[in-house]
Amino acid sequence: MTSPRRAVVIGAGFGGIALAIRLQAGGIQTTLLDKRDKPGGRAYVYEDEGFVFDGGPTVITDPSALEELFALGGKRMADYVELLPVDPFYRLCWEDGSHFDYANDQDALDRQIHARNPADVAGYRRFLKYSKAVFDEGYLKLGAVPFLSFRDMMAAGPRLARLEAWKSVYGMVSRFIQDEQLRQAFSFHSLLVGGNPFATSSIYTLIHALERQWGVWFPRGGTGALVRGMVQLFEDLGGQVELNADVARIEVEQDRARAVRLVDGREFPADLVASNADVVHTYDTLLGHHARGARRAASLKRKRFSMSLFVLYFGLDTQHTQLRHHTVCFGQRYRGLIDEIFKGPQLAKDFSLYLHAPCATDPSLAPPGCGSHYVLAPVPHLGNADIDWDVEGPKYRDRIFEYLERFYMPGLRSQLVTSRYITPFDFRDTLNAHHGSAFSLEPVLTQSAWFRPHNRDADIPNLYLVGAGTHPGAGVPGVVGSAKATAGLMLADAAA
Ligand SMILES: Cc1cc2nc3c(=O)[nH]c(=O)nc-3n(C[C@H](O)[C@H](O)[C@H](O)COP(=O)(O)OP(=O)(O)OC[C@H]3O[C@@H](n4cnc5c(N)ncnc54)[C@H](O)[C@@H]3O)c2cc1C
Repeated sequence: MTSPRRAVVIGAGFGGIALAIRLQAGGIQTTLLDKRDKPGGRAYVYEDEGFVFDGGPTVITDPSALEELFALGGKRMADYVELLPVDPFYRLCWEDGSHFDYANDQDALDRQIHARNPADVAGYRRFLKYSKAVFDEGYLKLGAVPFLSFRDMMAAGPRLARLEAWKSVYGMVSRFIQDEQLRQAFSFHSLLVGGNPFATSSIYTLIHALERQWGVWFPRGGTGALVRGMVQLFEDLGGQVELNADVARIEVEQDRARAVRLVDGREFPADLVASNADVVHTYDTLLGHHARGARRAASLKRKRFSMSLFVLYFGLDTQHTQLRHHTVCFGQRYRGLIDEIFKGPQLAKDFSLYLHAPCATDPSLAPPGCGSHYVLAPVPHLGNADIDWDVEGPKYRDRIFEYLERFYMPGLRSQLVTSRYITPFDFRDTLNAHHGSAFSLEPVLTQSAWFRPHNRDADIPNLYLVGAGTHPGAGVPGVVGSAKATAGLMLADAAA
C-alpha cells in the first residue's frame, strides 16, 4: 500500500492551524476547513468603525511553541508576526481599591507581597519552586505527548502523585500563601483555561511558572495577526484553506474515515482526518451516522464541561491610560462566586471580570486617540443554567458597563462609540460548543491526560482529535501542544 498523503483538518482554531502546519511541513498534503468566514475559532476578530477586537485569547505565552511551527517550515516567526512583551503581565484589582501588579520582576513582587503579608514572601518563593517542578513534569515532559493507553497514565502516575496532583490549585496555593487576596492572585490562572481553582488539579499551577519562564506576549496587530501569520505560513508551505466550509459529516467506510462532506454537498477525500471542532459535536453530529459516533457522544455528554463566557467588546472615543493591558477585577466573593459560575443554575448578581485594554501595548487597534477593549465575565454553561441570553444579554451588558464605570473606567458610557457582545448562545451556535462551554471539557484530574478524549480515536484508526477537547486541553499553549501530540501520531501512521 502506498503511504497516505492527504489529510483534512476540520476547524481552524489555534489547534487546527498548528496541526495543519505540522502535517504540511511533514509532507502530507493538507486541507484546513472552517465553517466561519475567517480562521481563528475562539480567536476570531471583530472589526467595527475602525476598532479591532480580538474575540478570545489575548494572553500569549510560550512563544517557543509558536516559533517551533515556523522553524518546522524553514521560516522565522519574526517574518510573519511580531510579539511584543506585556509588562506587567496583569494588574489584579479588588473593590477595596487595592491592586497587585503581577510582573516578571522578583524584587517588585517581593515588595508588593511584603506590603500585604511579610510571611508570604518566603511562601511565594516556595510556591514558585513547586510550580516550576509541576511545569517541568506536566508541561515540558507530558504537555505534547499523547496518552493513548492506561500504561502511559500509570507511567506518569508516581510523578503526579509526588506533586500531589489530586489537590486543587487553590488548596495548593493556600499551603504556601496566607493572604486571601494573594491566594486569589496566584490561583485565578486556571480560569483562563476553563478550570475552577477549587476543583482543578494543582498541576495547573504550572501556568504560573510558564509565565515566569517565558513571559506574557501580545502580537503587534492583535492575536488575529498571529492567526493570520500562522495561516500564511501554512499556505506558503502549500496547504489549502477553505473558509465558509461547514462540515456536515465524516464519511466512514469499513471503520476508516474516507472523506469529509460539507453541508453544501462538497466532498474532500482524505486518508487521514482530524477534527478541531468541539468533541461532542464531532462525535454526535459529524459521526452521528456511525455506531462509534453515537456511542462516544453519549459517554462524552456525561462528562463535566467548563463554564461559558459573556464577552463584551467596546470602543471608546478616548484612552483610559490608567489601565494596564490585562486587568483582573476581583469581586467581593471568590469561592462563592466561582461555585455559582461552575454549578449554575443562574446568573450571579456580582462579577469577577477580566478587562482587556490592548491599546496599552498596541495603539493601532483603535482609531487615533481612541481605545479598544473587551471585558469578559465567566458565566454558567447552558447545561447548568437555562438562561435566555437573548433577554438577559442586554441587561447583563448594562450591568457590566455600570460596574466598570464605577470602579475602573470613569465616564465609560458617555465615551462609547461601538459595542457588541457574545453569549453562551454564540459558543453553542457559532462554534458548535456543547452546552456553550468556552473551554470544552472541564480540566479536572479525572478528565485529564488518559481520561481526556484521546488524540487518536480508538475505533477509527485514521481519525484524530486536536484542540481543547483532547490532551492536554484548552488555552493556546495547550491546543498548540495537542497539535504536536496529534501530528506525531498522524505522521507516524502515515509513514507506517
Ligand atoms: C474569550 C476567551 C478568552 C480566552 N483567553 C485566552 C488567553 O488569553 N490565553 C489563552 O492561552 N487561551 C485563552 N482562551 C482559550 C483559548 O482561546 C482556546 O482554548 C483555544 O483557542 C481553543 O482552540 P481550539 O484549537 O480548541 O479551537 P477553537 O478555537 O475552538 O476552534 C474550533 C474551530 O472549529 C470550527 N468548527 C466547529 N464545527 C465545525 C464544522 N462542523 N465545520 C467546520 N468547522 C467547524 C469553528 O468554527 C472553530 O473555528 C480564551 C478563550 C476565550 C473564549
